Amino acid sequence: MANKTKSTVPGNLAMETELVLAGRDPFRHDGFVNTPIVRGSTVLSPTVADLEGHTGRYTYGRRGNPTVESLEAALTRIEGGAGVVLTPSGLSAVSVALLAVLKAGDHLLMVDSAYQPTRRICDEVLTRYGIETTYYDPLIGGGIADLIRANTRAIFLESPGSQSFEIQDVPAIVAAAAAHDITTLMDNTWATPLFFRPHDFGVDVSIQAGTKYLGGHSDLNIGTISANARTFRRVHLTHGDLGMTVAPEDAFLAARGLRTMAVRLERHQQSALTVARWLVARPEVLKVLHPALPEHPSHALWKRDFKGASGLFSVILQPAPKLAVDAFLDSLALFGLGYSWGGFESLAIPFDCNSYRTATRWNPGGPAIRLQIGLEDPADLIADLDSGFAALAAAR
Ligand SMILES: *Cc1c(COP(=O)(O)O)cnc(C)c1O
Repeated sequence: MANKTKSTVPGNLAMETELVLAGRDPFRHDGFVNTPIVRGSTVLSPTVADLEGHTGRYTYGRRGNPTVESLEAALTRIEGGAGVVLTPSGLSAVSVALLAVLKAGDHLLMVDSAYQPTRRICDEVLTRYGIETTYYDPLIGGGIADLIRANTRAIFLESPGSQSFEIQDVPAIVAAAAAHDITTLMDNTWATPLFFRPHDFGVDVSIQAGTKYLGGHSDLNIGTISANARTFRRVHLTHGDLGMTVAPEDAFLAARGLRTMAVRLERHQQSALTVARWLVARPEVLKVLHPALPEHPSHALWKRDFKGASGLFSVILQPAPKLAVDAFLDSLALFGLGYSWGGFESLAIPFDCNSYRTATRWNPGGPAIRLQIGLEDPADLIADLDSGFAALAAAR
């Protein structure tokens, strides 16, 4: 029998197998399958020589913890970069990554469809440190070259936009950035590394709000930053210098989420497509913004670059008064009204991109609603939406 006390994990495994194995080392923990939750700040050294020589594996809770390190190691394999650091939220992953690659006097190109709080980092924080941001059209592709200035040091992508669902031409933008030695960063929360691996496309820094599909249960906030060999040192240093740390309980829950991520995402994908196709055929619906639907304007790019679609998409209703749209949302029994997504439960929110966009105008043609399709039976979700449309009609 093989020696099971050693790590005898073969290479070249499928992603599903990696998700099960990555970051675990049971025989370092008396055989227990999962890395235990280790709480602690102080780490003792046996002698002064050990203390001063940093001979131990850990020196201080903020700088390394077995539970946190296990998740970082797992995500490093899944993302395929040089290393991963964890932050207390998805938003702090964005801010730490930007602070790691930019300095006073630099210029940043930020996609106009970015998660709205990401824009606040640029407009409210980076401006105070002398970093200027220009927003660009998510559909700009290689045309981004025209926006590059002598001091442009970073291009930030988010694809698809998490409300409007444009897919960016990542290879074209990465090529333009590479020609000027510009660092590329991507918020990849929607696809996760299971459906799109930014590093495989030459993106330097891959960011996830682990709060969403990694956690998967709406019970934690966590952010992940994966960096390639070119950028990991800067990301790691800035992360440490800013004192970023995550609770071992949150790292444990995120690692638990990782094990089931492939099966959850497969179900989110199938159910979301089922609901999206049903919505397309409804007279109350003007259009459905889901990149995996052939009629979506970005479908060809999605098909070229992505391995799948997750459970979040938007629907544009035929013009209707706010009162009627509110009646639709209020009548839903299975869709909760709340922010965030990626958990097991379905959600709905109304939104309007024009409240924050600056580089592009958004003309959806009717009221916009974003749906997160959870793990419920899609037939039940469709029945819920059907009664919502009855409420909408009654309120007009
Ligand atoms: C939710 C979200 C974030 C922020 O994650 P938090 O954990 O809520 O801070 C960042 N980017 C995208 C695309 C998100 O959906």
